[in-house]
Amino acid sequence: TLPLIFSVFLIGITLAAFLLLFHNLRKQHRLSAIKNEFISNISHELKTPIATVSVALEALRDFHARKDPLRTQEYLDISHQELQRLSLLVDKVLKLSIFEKKAIELKEEAVELAMIVEEVAGSMRLQYDKCGATLHTSFDGDTTVMGDRLHLLSVVFNLLDNALKYSGQSPEVFVRVSGTSREVILTVRDNGIGIPEVYTEKVFEKFFRVPQGNVHQAKGYGLGLSYVAAIMKQHRGSIRAESILGKGSNFILHFPAGRL
Ligand code: ADP
Repeated sequence: TLPLIFSVFLIGITLAAFLLLFHNLRKQHRLSAIKNEFISNISHELKTPIATVSVALEALRDFHARKDPLRTQEYLDISHQELQRLSLLVDKVLKLSIFEKKAIELKEEAVELAMIVEEVAGSMRLQYDKCGATLHTSFDGDTTVMGDRLHLLSVVFNLLDNALKYSGQSPEVFVRVSGTSREVILTVRDNGIGIPEVYTEKVFEKFFRVPQGNVHQAKGYGLGLSYVAAIMKQHRGSIRAESILGKGSNFILHFPAGRL
């Protein structure tokens, strides 16, 4: 009976190994399908603003020559709007880096986080106004950290974008940056739909979206927060979420003062 038990054991192990392999292959296949869809969507979306701006610029040359200030203004507005769209797409391209296995390469420069928040808040003002949302910012202390300006802009953009995407009635968002000699803390607090407590850590995982609330009306791939978390890790910082379902969420980011 011993050889029989051994053979059954061996067959069992082989079967388990095959199942595991099959499961991993399926998972990889699913991830690469999502990645391909993501990339093909971006490439497609990139074409529209570029085409629109080049047509608008050509028209502008005519309107300018014909001294038509009304149409000139209209086409300037269109170009501005489309360029905003283009900058959102650049944010999506930045997020692509988290599909790669290796760490994201960061620049190391002195960046004032208060300025980053001001810049992103300024560029999103129109979007907030359109939704009847208010955005409050407050700063205190020295908010300088060592890091990568472009990625930090994208971090703040993702948090402010989510605060609006998952908002409730009369959305209000508070961004606060405060610096001490040891660290700089950035918080983004909203009064939106909130996140069930069981998911406040899971939201930082790749492709995770809370399976309830208005999440299905809001477009997304569940990549924003995992990108933000990866960038925070690279900055030797941390991020966590506190939330009360139906009341709002608070994202708390810690950056060390000093060099990377
Ligand atoms: P996406 O917004 O593309 O789904 P994210 O990674 O940015 O991806 O967010 C993951 C999930 O976390 C979202 O799908 C949503 O369920 C939840 N979430 C993120 N930010 C907030 C927020 N401010 N309020 C409520 N839920 C949020």
